[in-house]
Amino acid sequence: MSTSRPIADPRPLAVGDVLHGFCGGYFGREHYDCCIIEAAGVDWIVTRDVGGTGLDFAAGREDLAGLRQYRTPTVRPADGITPCCAVTE
Ligand SMILES: [Zn+2]
Repeated sequence: MSTSRPIADPRPLAVGDVLHGFCGGYFGREHYDCCIIEAAGVDWIVTRDVGGTGLDFAAGREDLAGLRQYRTPTVRPADGITPCCAVTE
């Protein structure tokens, strides 16, 4: 089975990337906060809630590929993009 969902940004998830909101449930049903990737391996990531302390974990190449669509590589107010979280830079 293959996914037909388009992925806008094919780069691997990396430390410092921000994932927004529910993230399609890849982190579980209780995950609602935007989070920052704090560590990344070949097929796993550890994230921390923006402005919080909660850590989450995702693993598996398919899950990480799916999570890429919830990443905003660069959020710049100058581009007219309103960030949903407090991350800058
Ligand atoms: Zn956000």
